[in-house]
Amino acid sequence: MKKIYFSLLALLFTHPSYCWGFYAHGKINYLAVFLLPPQMIGFYKKHIDYIREHATDPDKRRYAIPDEGPRHFIDINHYGNYPYASLPRIYDSAVAMYSKDSIHAYGIVPWWIQIMKGKLVKAFKDKDVYTILKTSAEIGHYIGDAHVPLHACKNHNGQYTNQHGIHGFWESRVPELMAETAFNFWIGKADYIKNPLMFMWDRIMESAVAADTVLQFEKTLSQHFAPDKKFAFEYRNGVLIRQYSSAYTLAYNALLNDMVERRMRQSIYATASFWYSAWVDAGQPDLSQLKEQAFSEIEKKEMDLLEKEWRSGKIKGRGCD
Ligand SMILES: [Zn+2]
Repeated sequence: MKKIYFSLLALLFTHPSYCWGFYAHGKINYLAVFLLPPQMIGFYKKHIDYIREHATDPDKRRYAIPDEGPRHFIDINHYGNYPYASLPRIYDSAVAMYSKDSIHAYGIVPWWIQIMKGKLVKAFKDKDVYTILKTSAEIGHYIGDAHVPLHACKNHNGQYTNQHGIHGFWESRVPELMAETAFNFWIGKADYIKNPLMFMWDRIMESAVAADTVLQFEKTLSQHFAPDKKFAFEYRNGVLIRQYSSAYTLAYNALLNDMVERRMRQSIYATASFWYSAWVDAGQPDLSQLKEQAFSEIEKKEMDLLEKEWRSGKIKGRGCD
C-alpha cells in the first residue's frame, strides 16, 4: 500500500506542469467571454467549454515542437536594466540588432501575440469556426503568460536565488487556493486596442517590474516560516500531496497585496479585448451566421497528437518548473 502511495506521489511530482496552471489559464479564457459585446458573446458562450479546455494547448505543444517554448516568455532583464531601452520593440529591428537565434533564445511572447492576433483576424474574415475557436483559446494563453512576472525574468523559477518552485507557487498554488473564494472577477467590458504591440509591451514592462517583488517577498517570508510550516501535505484535486502550505500561501498573497488577483484580472480583460479587436479589424462579421461544423479528421488528429506528446512528459525546451 505504502509503495503504491509513494509511486503515486512520484507521478504527481513528475507530471508535466502548465504555466499559470491548468486552472488559471482555463479560468482566464472562461471569464473573458463575459466581457464581450452582444454581437460576440452568443457565439463564444456556445463554445465556452472548448475555449476553457484548450487554454492550455500551447503548453502541451511544448512537448511536441521545440520552437514553441520561446513563445511563452521574454527574459527581459537579459537586455540590461529597466526600461530596457536597448531592446527595439519591433521584432525585425530587434532581430537586426541581436540576431534571430538570440532573440528566440530569450523569448518572443510580445511578438508572438501579434502573430496570433493576425491569425484571428484572418479566421474571422474567412468565417472559419475551428480556427476562430482554436486561435481565441490559444491567444488567451499567451496573453495570460505575458502577465506573469516570472515570464519576464531570467530567474524564472528562482533558480539563481535558491527559490526553486516559486514559479508554480505564484501562478498555480495562489490562484488555485484563492480565486474561487477571494478574488473579484467583476471586470467590465472589452475595449478596442489601437496599438496591440505597444499594449503588450506595457504589460511586459509591468511584469518585469513586478518580478523583483515576487522573488524578494517570498525570500523575506520564508525567513519567518519554519520549513515544516512552509510546506504541508494537503489535498489537491482530492489527492494528498506535499505543497506550499495554505498558511504560507495566504501570507504570501497578503504580502503581495493581491498582485496575483490583479494580474489575473488584467489577463482576462486583455484576452477579451484582443478577441474583440480582432473581430472589429475583420469587419465585424455576423457570428450568428457562422456554420457550425464538427471537427474534421485532420483537426481531431492534431488535437490527439498534442495530447499524446504532452502525456509522454518530454518537454522540448524550457518548462515552467
Ligand atoms: Zn505557457
